[in-house]
Order: sequence, then structure tokens, then C-alpha cells
Amino acid sequence: MKYVSTRGRSEAVTASQAIIRGIAPDGGLYVPDTIPAIDESFIRGLCGADYRTRAVAVLGLYLEEFSTGELEAIAKASYGDNFDCAAIAPTHVLDDDTAYLELWHGPTCAFKDMALQIMPRLLTASLRKNGEERTVSILVATSGDTGKAALEGFKDVPGTRIMVFYPRDGVSQVQKLQMATQEGTNVNVVAVEGNFDDAQTGVKKIFGDRGFEKELDGRGYFLSSANSINWGRLAPQIAYYFSAYCDMVNAGKLKMGEKLDFCVPTGNFGDILAGWYAKQMGLPVGRFICASNDNNVLTDFIATGVYDKNRPFHLTSSPSMDILVSSNLERLLYCRTGDAAAVRGFMEKLSGEGRYDVGQALGDAVRAEFTGGFCRDEEAKAEIGKLWRENGYLMDTHTAVASRVLRDLRAKEGRSVPTVVVSTASPFKFGAAVLEALGAVTNETGPALVDELAALTGVGAPAPLSGLGKKPVRFEKWVAKEDMEQAVSEFLA
Ligand SMILES: *Cc1c(COP(=O)(O)O)cnc(C)c1O
Repeated sequence: MKYVSTRGRSEAVTASQAIIRGIAPDGGLYVPDTIPAIDESFIRGLCGADYRTRAVAVLGLYLEEFSTGELEAIAKASYGDNFDCAAIAPTHVLDDDTAYLELWHGPTCAFKDMALQIMPRLLTASLRKNGEERTVSILVATSGDTGKAALEGFKDVPGTRIMVFYPRDGVSQVQKLQMATQEGTNVNVVAVEGNFDDAQTGVKKIFGDRGFEKELDGRGYFLSSANSINWGRLAPQIAYYFSAYCDMVNAGKLKMGEKLDFCVPTGNFGDILAGWYAKQMGLPVGRFICASNDNNVLTDFIATGVYDKNRPFHLTSSPSMDILVSSNLERLLYCRTGDAAAVRGFMEKLSGEGRYDVGQALGDAVRAEFTGGFCRDEEAKAEIGKLWRENGYLMDTHTAVASRVLRDLRAKEGRSVPTVVVSTASPFKFGAAVLEALGAVTNETGPALVDELAALTGVGAPAPLSGLGKKPVRFEKWVAKEDMEQAVSEFLA
């Protein structure tokens, strides 16, 4: 299996090379040239297995250069005591046809741990396979959770350095503190004046600067990304869709072979796209519900085939979904058309005019597998209160967006099929908004809210969050977006 660029102007590479490069030289994203097919016996086999075994089985199909033994060792190191529950990614069954796939039991209490605990190990193994001797320097633009998850994943991994940029006013206080207190000798964290798209655009510019690349090469460094555009991020996420399906079968909520819907709180389109790969492989999925907050560019895209980022940017209580450019959508457009020239055209239009139209046929193809929906901040908060009061189930603001979108869709369609809501963060990570949703009045801010939410609900706070207030702050620097490259240069001096 080779990996090809969605823009068609870079040579095909192996999985390990795609993981090392992150983004293709032509600016495109790497996708496998064929999608491995599985049958029902594959899924049956996974139903009796633990999460690590499920992950190895799925990953092995995409990473042919890695032996099973090698992947088992990587999975063991990635999904172990660093998670606070043995199931790693448990499926919480709420009622007869609704369950929540909890992807936040890892060290940073958000779903990005599922990929970022494993990706650095895939990367260092890939570097060895390709005889690379330079130090890989990971650059990350984050709207909050990715940054911390990447820092935790890469901290003190030999042969790597990591630098994280986050929008100064676009992340929660707890997220900021999680990053500012990061431990490790190979890490750096800098705030950027602007929103997430400013940070992401800045990082993309640095990646595109050939002069800077040369300069770093002279110093023994090369740049790579850990954003969800890296195939090493996407591949591990495919596994938990299989895992959730097996959990639903094991719980007696689904018959083997029966279709299951997934409702995914979406930002960069990475999480939901991983599910789409699982479906193309043969996992029985009905449809994907792509849930957005007020930044509902994807809802409109799915409805109309027009992607238009020319719209107000909203800061919401689900900041990891405050995104106007969903990078991973490019992979879907390429895989559905196989037409790199068309994808190049869309992406040129997007960077020029901020808008592109995929036309009727491709729009229909997208709608055959995806349904879009969004809800307002207030609606998501009401959903948190409702589930807590009626089901005693506490969820975060991102999950709440998906939960509410699903509820509205079921009401609109007048029917309900088995659906897994992908739950992407611990409620304690967004304590202020969750407390507000529960009707609590508080004067506390930041980490104190973690204890307050625990006291109010009787739900135990995850250890990495309850100890946050006591950790020393190591990173306080911020830069203008024009100065990001300079900051990287200083870090890699
Ligand atoms: C990153 C993130 C999302 C969005 O996932 P994408 O892969 O970017 O679509 C949703 N919720 C939380 C909590 C996140 O951290």
C-alpha cells in the first residue's frame, strides 16, 4: 500500500514516510491508495478482544511496514496506565439506541490522546525505518486540546522536539494552564495573538518556507506536524469506531452486521473522517452525523456543496470546534472523486476566495454518507443539564453539541436508529461552562472549577485536572502572528 497526495503533484510514499512528512510536498494530504477491506469475521474477532488488540488489528492493515509484534509493543506503551480506565475507550450505553463513546480517559482528558499517545511512537519508529538522523521538530497549531495532547505524547521522546502555538484568547483557562505547566525538556509553548485559523495559517506558512527549511537542515532539524492532517494521527482513530461497534454488539444493543450511526462533534474533520475510513473498510455504518457549533461551515457545506469560510468567527464554549477551515475534508473530496486536479482547484479557491463549490454530483455523494447539523451554545448547555438531570450522565460542551444535534435530528425525522455519540472531552476540562449548564453560580475560575464540579455532582475529577492548580507555570510567552517563525528559530537555535 502506498500513500498518495490529495493534490497529485508529489510522489507516492510508504506509510512511514507519510508519517514523517505529515503534509505532502505539494501541500496536499496523504491518503492510502487503496482502502483495506474487512469482513464480518474480522469484526467478530475484535468483539472478544481488548482495546489494544483491536487497535493493532486495524492499524496493521494500514501500516504494512510495521510487524504485528512492533505494533503490539507500541500499543502496549500507548494505551496502558496512562489511561484511567482499563477499557481505554469505553462505550457508555445511555438508552436502547443511544450510547456515548468516551475517548477522554487518557492523560489530557480529551480524545486527541487516542491518537497522540501512539503517534510519537509511530513517528520515531518510522524515522528509524528510513535512516533519518536529524531531529524531528513537531510544530502544532492548536485550538486547545491538540496542543496539550501532543505535548504529553512527545514529551521527552528521544530524537524529537515539539513547539505548540495556541490562540491567546481562544482556549479555556484550564487548557491554557495545562499547556503552560507542561513538563519535559524538549517542549515549548507560545501563545499567538489571533484566533485558531491565524495560528494554523502561520504554521502552514512556516512549513512552506523553503529557505527556513534549509536553514534548519543545517542545524540538524527538520519540521513535521502532529496536527490531524498527519496520517499517523488519523489511522489510530479508525480503531475506536470498530471498538464502539463491538461494544454495542457485546452490550446487546446491536446485532452483528446491523448498521450503526455515529454522531461526531466536528472541527477539523479528522475524527469523523477516521469513522468514514472504518465504513469504507466494511464496518456496518448507516451514516455519520457531522455536528457543529455556531461555526457551522460544515453544516452548510453538507447541505449545499458550497464550502464558504467567509462568515463571522464565533468563540463558543466548545472551542475545539471553533474552526472555519476543516483541513481533513480535503481527504474526503479526493477519495470520493479520485481527482487531484479538482481538489487542487477547490483548495486554490479556498485560499483565494475563501469559498468553493463541489457541484451537485459530489455534493450528493457527500450527503449519501453524511448529515450535517449544528446547535447554538445555549442549546448545547441545555443538553448538558438535561442529560445530567434525566440520566445522571455528565458530559462536556463538545459532546453536548453532538448530543443535541442528534436529539434535534431525531425529532425532525420522527425516527431513531442505534447511534453512538462520540464523546470527545472530560466535562472537567470545561468546568466553567458545564457548571453554568447545571445552573450553578460560582465565583471560582480556572482549576478551582474542577473541584467545584466534582463537589456539585459527586463525579470524580480526573487526576491530571484535579492537580493542575499546584503545578508551576513554565511558559508565558506570546507573539504576533508575523513572529511565529522567529519563535521557532529561537527554539531550534
Ligand atoms: C479536536 C476536538 C474536536 C474536533 O475533532 P476534529 O477531529 O478536529 O473534527 C471535538 N471535540 C474536542 C474536545 C476536541 O478536542
